[in-house]
Amino acid sequence: MKGFTTNAIHTPLSHKDPHGTLRSPVYDNVAFEFETAKDIQMAFEGKRPGHSYSRISNPTVEDFENRVKRVSGANGVLAVSSGMAAISNLVLTLLKSGKNVVTSRFLFGNTYSLFERTLKPWGLEVRYVDFEKPKTLDESIDENTGMVFLETITNPQLQVVDIGAIAEIAHRRGVPVVADTTVTSLYLFDSKKFGVDVEVLSSTKVISGGATSVGGLIIDNGIFDWERNSKLADWAKRYGPHALILYLRREVYRNIGACMAPHHAYLQSLGLETVSLRVERSAANALAIAKFLETHSKISRVNYPGLKSSPWHENAKKLFPRGFGGILCIELESKEKCFEFMNKLNVIRRATNINDNKTLVIHPASTIFCEYTPEERAKMGVPDTLIRLSVGIEDVEDLIDDIEKGLS
Ligand code: PLP
Repeated sequence: MKGFTTNAIHTPLSHKDPHGTLRSPVYDNVAFEFETAKDIQMAFEGKRPGHSYSRISNPTVEDFENRVKRVSGANGVLAVSSGMAAISNLVLTLLKSGKNVVTSRFLFGNTYSLFERTLKPWGLEVRYVDFEKPKTLDESIDENTGMVFLETITNPQLQVVDIGAIAEIAHRRGVPVVADTTVTSLYLFDSKKFGVDVEVLSSTKVISGGATSVGGLIIDNGIFDWERNSKLADWAKRYGPHALILYLRREVYRNIGACMAPHHAYLQSLGLETVSLRVERSAANALAIAKFLETHSKISRVNYPGLKSSPWHENAKKLFPRGFGGILCIELESKEKCFEFMNKLNVIRRATNINDNKTLVIHPASTIFCEYTPEERAKMGVPDTLIRLSVGIEDVEDLIDDIEKGLS
C-alpha cells in the first residue's frame, strides 16, 4: 500500500487511453452509444459494465471516484454534486419515515436545517445527544435508529469527540456510524481505523484545490453489514459489501439526480493530488496563528484543537496525528467588536467556505446560523461573539500582521 499522495497522483486510469494520456480526459457528455440493442438492455440491467448516461455514471467522475477509493482504502465511493447532496442522499438511503438518527446539536448549519426542517416533516425523528456522555448515546439508540451521525471536528464549535468509543457503542447496538469528515479531509483522519462505517464530505473544500468547484463524496469503508439495515437487506443478500453504493447508484442517487459534473470531477482529481501539501501548510499556519492569538490581550478565547488549552486536544491528537486542520475560532467582546475586526482585514477575505487556499473570515451567528433563534444558537454553541477563521496557505507572517492590524 503506497502513501496518500503517491496514490492520489498515480491511480491508474480504468481504461488504457489510445493517446497514452497521463490524465483522464474530461468526458463532458451525456449519453454513451452501444453496439447492439442487447448491449443497451444488459447495461440497463446492470449485467454489463460501462456507462450509459452521465447522471448515473461518467468516465471522468469514475476516475475521480477511483482515486478517492485508492487514497482512502475504502470499499466503495460515490461522487455527488455537493457535500449536502452526500448527506441527503445517504440519509434517504439509510432511513425512512418512523426511523431516527442519533446526532449532536453541534452540526454544520445546513445539516441541522436538513434534519430539522426538510426531513422532519417526512417523518424522520432526530435525537440530539451529548457525544461526550456515552451513556446518553447508548440510551438514545433503539430498534428504529438508522444511523449515528457526527462531524470529526464540529464546525464552528471545533469539538472533537472520541469517535472510536462512539463507534463501539453504535456497533454493539447494530447501528452504523456516519461521519462528516469535511473539516479534516481525507488526509488528516483515517476513518476506518476508528470504526466509521461511512464518510460523507464536501469535496468543495480542500479537495477542489482552492474553491474551484462544488462537490461531495460518499465513502463506504466496508465495515458495516448492510443486511442489518431493513432497506438494504435484500441488496446486501445479492451484492454483499457493495450493497450501499449499488443501491445509491441504481436507485437513490440515480433518482435524486444530484450527480457530479464531469468538469468538476476533473478539477477535483487535480486538487486531490496536492491535498496533503495544502492541508499540512494550512494546519501549520493555523497552529502558528492560534499560538499568537492565545497571548493577545484583546481575545477572550481562542479555540483550536491543536492548542493544549482546547478541551478536545487529547482526542484530536489521537484521531488526527498529521495535524489539526485549518479552522480556528476566536471570541471577542461583542458582535460589534467582531464586525469591526473583520472590516479592518485586508489580506484575509470576508467570505463563507472553508479550506480554501485563501484565508477566510466569517461571523457564523449572523450568517450560516442566522435562521436560528438566539436560544437555538446558544444550544448549538454559536454565540454572537464568535469569529471563524479558515486559514489558508499564504505566508503566515502576512496573516499574523493582518490580524494584528485588525485587532489594533
Ligand atoms: N459539512 C460541513 C461540515 C460543511 O462545512 C459544509 C459546507 O461548508 C458542508 C457539509 C456542505 O458542503 P457543500 O457546500 O459542498 O454542500
